[in-house]
Amino acid sequence: MSDGTEPLFQKIALIGIGLIGSSLARATRQRGLSHEIVACARSKSTRDKVMELGIADAVYETPAEAVQDADLVILCTPVSTYDDLALAMAPALKPGTIISDVGSVKESVIRDVGQHLPDGVHFVPGHPIAGTEHSGPEAGFAELFDGRWCILTPPAGTNADALEKIKAYWAALGSMVEIMTPHHHDKVLAITSHLPHLIAYTIVGTATDLEESQQADVVKFSAGGFRDFTRIAASDPIMWRDVFLNNREAVLEMLQRFSEDLSVLQRAVRWGEGDVLEERFRKTRDIRRGIVDAHQAGTFDAREPDSEDS
Ligand code: NAP
Repeated sequence: MSDGTEPLFQKIALIGIGLIGSSLARATRQRGLSHEIVACARSKSTRDKVMELGIADAVYETPAEAVQDADLVILCTPVSTYDDLALAMAPALKPGTIISDVGSVKESVIRDVGQHLPDGVHFVPGHPIAGTEHSGPEAGFAELFDGRWCILTPPAGTNADALEKIKAYWAALGSMVEIMTPHHHDKVLAITSHLPHLIAYTIVGTATDLEESQQADVVKFSAGGFRDFTRIAASDPIMWRDVFLNNREAVLEMLQRFSEDLSVLQRAVRWGEGDVLEERFRKTRDIRRGIVDAHQAGTFDAREPDSEDS
């Protein structure tokens, strides 16, 4: 590092280098957190793009090549790929290596990755609560994690030094770190992230099924609220397919509660129960104000104007 202190890691290997992986590469380099940053990408076009962007020192086709001599490996692909990737890289991991990830669900990840890891490597699962609806290495940026939460879900018996090092890494990336159990994480994220995406995918789908004449006006007058749903519903289809396949129980539980609450509002609309509607809307406005006060409002893209989260 330029100030003479040693970086946290000698070699970080990022397995998958899309929005999140490339943001980690950029932020790690910008903050001098590793001597060497390498990536693994399955497609030649992504490997070429990474070298053109100059965001990693080297990029490999296979995870086994990328993890050679790495002291930190971070999985940054859709969660359904973790099982095969962990199997492929396991024989090439050196003892003492820390394995982490950024997956949006945690119980299934711990099951899928944990089963393949050899003794002597340390698994510290993580999830940055930061992202945008954009994908690929060009979409990433170094400030993505600044002022955002990163949740770590260490399984029982996780090596304490490895946990401290991952905490220090995310803090150095500008994040606030929270530790919770994987089960709790999956429940909380089911309501704060997964269900909202399911609703957005649904409402945008419903709108596209309207007759043609109505559809044109949906686009024209989208600023009435619909536009925000379309942004969420533009998120990567594979990543989100995997989230729902891997957090089924928690999502279904939250969906059940949501459906019941929606029925209450449906009934209030049908019977003209203004007091019911007003009371609910007042409560939710307070929640929004709390989120703004906690500086967690607005888009998660630091490059976009964010009027309420300044
Ligand atoms: P992304 O931009 O679509 O990038 C995905 C990366 O994974 C690409 O490098 C892609 O390689 C690689 N990949 C996809 N399928 C693969 C396979 N079958 N085998 C090997 N590599 C494969 O996705 P992202 O938004 O960075 O998401 C990555 C992870 O971060 C996911 O687990 C997601 O749950 C988590 N996450 C996302 C967000 C968000 O808002 N996006 C926020 C927090 C956490 P190619 O380019 O070669 O196809």
